[in-house]
Amino acid sequence: MRRFVAAAIFMGLAVPAAADTLSDAVAADTPYLVALYKHLHANPEVSFQEVETSARMAAELKKAGFTVTTGVGKTGVVAMLKNGDGPVVMLRADMDALPVTEETGLPYASKKTIQLEGGGSSGVMHACGHDIHMSSMIGTARHLAATKGEWAGTLIVIMQPAEERGGGARDMLADGLYERFPKPAHVIGLHDSATLPTGTLGISDGFVMANVDSVDIEVKGKGGHGAYPHTTKDPVVLASRIVGTLQTLISRELDPQTPAVVTVGAFNAGTKHNIISDAAHLQLTVRSYSDETRQFLIDGIKRIVRGEAIAAGMPEDLMPVVIVADEFTPATYNTPAQTMTIKAAFTERFGEDKVKPYRPEMGGEDFSRYHRADKSIESTLFRIGAVKQSTYDAAGGDPTKLPSLHSSKFAPDPEPTIRTGVEAMVTAARSVLGKR
Ligand SMILES: [Zn+2]
Ligand SMILES: [Zn+2]
Repeated sequence: MRRFVAAAIFMGLAVPAAADTLSDAVAADTPYLVALYKHLHANPEVSFQEVETSARMAAELKKAGFTVTTGVGKTGVVAMLKNGDGPVVMLRADMDALPVTEETGLPYASKKTIQLEGGGSSGVMHACGHDIHMSSMIGTARHLAATKGEWAGTLIVIMQPAEERGGGARDMLADGLYERFPKPAHVIGLHDSATLPTGTLGISDGFVMANVDSVDIEVKGKGGHGAYPHTTKDPVVLASRIVGTLQTLISRELDPQTPAVVTVGAFNAGTKHNIISDAAHLQLTVRSYSDETRQFLIDGIKRIVRGEAIAAGMPEDLMPVVIVADEFTPATYNTPAQTMTIKAAFTERFGEDKVKPYRPEMGGEDFSRYHRADKSIESTLFRIGAVKQSTYDAAGGDPTKLPSLHSSKFAPDPEPTIRTGVEAMVTAARSVLGKR
């Protein structure tokens, strides 16, 4: 205990001498973390442009006593604290914001704008709450450094760029995350939830987020006058048939117990009422959990596209082309052993009523890559409730009445969310770190 207080004073944390529990220590540090949160919220940076954010994170981690390496995977930060023999545990937060114009009306709302690649401009906002993740992670790093006498092992805290573009984890791994630094036996990440009230957590084992693939279909045709369809090969009709038949891939071919999504998000063709187009272009998002289902869907899309083109009488040289983007986000898998250990620790600390199931969803998270790069690594991503209790109550707990993640109106309740985030992340880390 004395060691903790002495270390805390050395670290410059405002920890009262009577602080003898995790909750008290975290509560004492929360004003610092909320101020950090508001700064990050007002100064968001989009994927791979997290220059100032990354510098601030590096400075905070250095101040907490970590050895810090910057520029890992472009703007990524790796901070290490070696603390005797024990497991290597890696904690991850993401840093990027989104091109969304904030409409929360908060005093610390972002006023930042950026030029978009395709022209025009947009506001920039931490609409996914990655500022909550960073603030909670800095609180966790400060607390674990201040209580070094109570645990053993090597703690690695990473601040990852570009989660929203799906390239940050990939680039940090490609830049030698597991070679230049000790390879972790355990990785843990957190994400805020726009559907859980503050003070609650979501955790489940198994798949919790999906494989995400982007697929383009270039439907070819033979254009001409809209009055003489018999002289053309109409790509709009063929593309429409493809869209219709794709709906049967999941409803008629896949085991009903297997989750999957095929959404045609874009259908572009033609210029004018009376012209039959030369081409139509479809853009799909394809979601699944297992590698097998992912392959089944991709193969099925290719087969349906070719089959419909044959049915439409397309010659071989006008066959549609299916392009599956190289870049995909793999499904996030929470390994059962570690996840159940963390869940038990959460239940003990927060009580059973605060620890909810993490309902698996079809969104994607590149946190998955840290486990996928070496499947012997135990991996857990959990959720922290971010919805103000009064807002949650007013919505009757109906998530459709609450602003979702990526909404311009998403406004986490910072104080209780970060407090729970730090307590939960410290608890999770301590459940797998060595004991003294
Ligand atoms: Zn997001
Ligand atoms: Zn996110």
